[in-house]
Amino acid sequence: MSLDLTKLLRDNIRNLKPYSSARDEFSGEAAAFLDANENPFNSPWNRYPDPHQRELKNRISALKNISVEHIFLGNGSDEPIDLLFRAFCEPGLDQVVSINPTYGMYRVAADTNNISVAHVSLSADFELDAAAVLKAVTPKTKLIFLCSPNNPSGNALDNSGLLKIIEEFKGIVVLDEAYIDFCPEKSLLPLLVKYPNLVILQTFSKAWGMAGLRLGIAFASPEIIDVLSRIKYPYNINILTQQKALELLANEANKNQWVDSILKERAKMITNLQSYPFVVKVYPSDANFLLVQMHDPRGIYQFLVDQQIIVRDRSSISLCEGCLRISIGSPEENATLMEALDQLI
Ligand code: PMP
Repeated sequence: MSLDLTKLLRDNIRNLKPYSSARDEFSGEAAAFLDANENPFNSPWNRYPDPHQRELKNRISALKNISVEHIFLGNGSDEPIDLLFRAFCEPGLDQVVSINPTYGMYRVAADTNNISVAHVSLSADFELDAAAVLKAVTPKTKLIFLCSPNNPSGNALDNSGLLKIIEEFKGIVVLDEAYIDFCPEKSLLPLLVKYPNLVILQTFSKAWGMAGLRLGIAFASPEIIDVLSRIKYPYNINILTQQKALELLANEANKNQWVDSILKERAKMITNLQSYPFVVKVYPSDANFLLVQMHDPRGIYQFLVDQQIIVRDRSSISLCEGCLRISIGSPEENATLMEALDQLI
């Protein structure tokens, strides 16, 4: 399968000459770094970070079993979402297609870039209708956003539908796998090199416990990675994030233990929640949260806030009527939630 990126790119991006930072032009050991107008005194954060994040990308390459030229690192995965709009969508003219309900940032990034979004509804069980997504495509559609496991529903979308869209759409398919570490067998990352129009987003904010560091990944063809790298802020991943991420990534066993614990807790939470008379339905989840339909979701939300327990009210979102979204917490946090809900029966 081939992809003519030059046709998809905005003219100004195709012709853009990227900013060349001091540390682009020289990297390595030097007797004196007098090229970047830094403070010479060891604060110790006085030096700019590696703009290419070489060490971190090498580590991620080994971890994810994919070569570094397929990897872009962002300030959270929200950064590549915005960059994809800026690279491919002409403000006021182009369009993207997404599913509904899904993660809210695709729409915010679209609005910031003045791009309209055609939303294709999932089924009542939050399944993907691949034919309907493809039908919503117009000659102006540059990107399709898909999210699996999907937020806020929690379910992984059927791979055959995802692949149908990737194979048939002539533009770029962005598949957001933010929650994939909770169901790694469902990832399409092993297929990435086969599809030059596929961008897979992942994040270290969830299973890896690094939400505060802000580190997200876009995996894509070297040509797409090159475009994102040319338009990003030169030093988008700061030194503290690069160092701390390297430290935490060295301990994959930690992440695996956290995932195990979260999956065990999720199973317990499903059983417990289903026993409450005010719970109508707990939707199946492949992620670290549950979408729970209840009688009086707003009343329960407010009751929980009064107990200093914060969940997410999703009851005003389409197909999520009556629903709260509950993250799987630590065993102690989950017990606190159950004790509070016990007071309602
Ligand atoms: N994608 C999805 C589906 C998410 O739910 C989130 C965060 N809630 C993100 C991306 C953003 O993650 P990050 O912290 O990497 O910006």
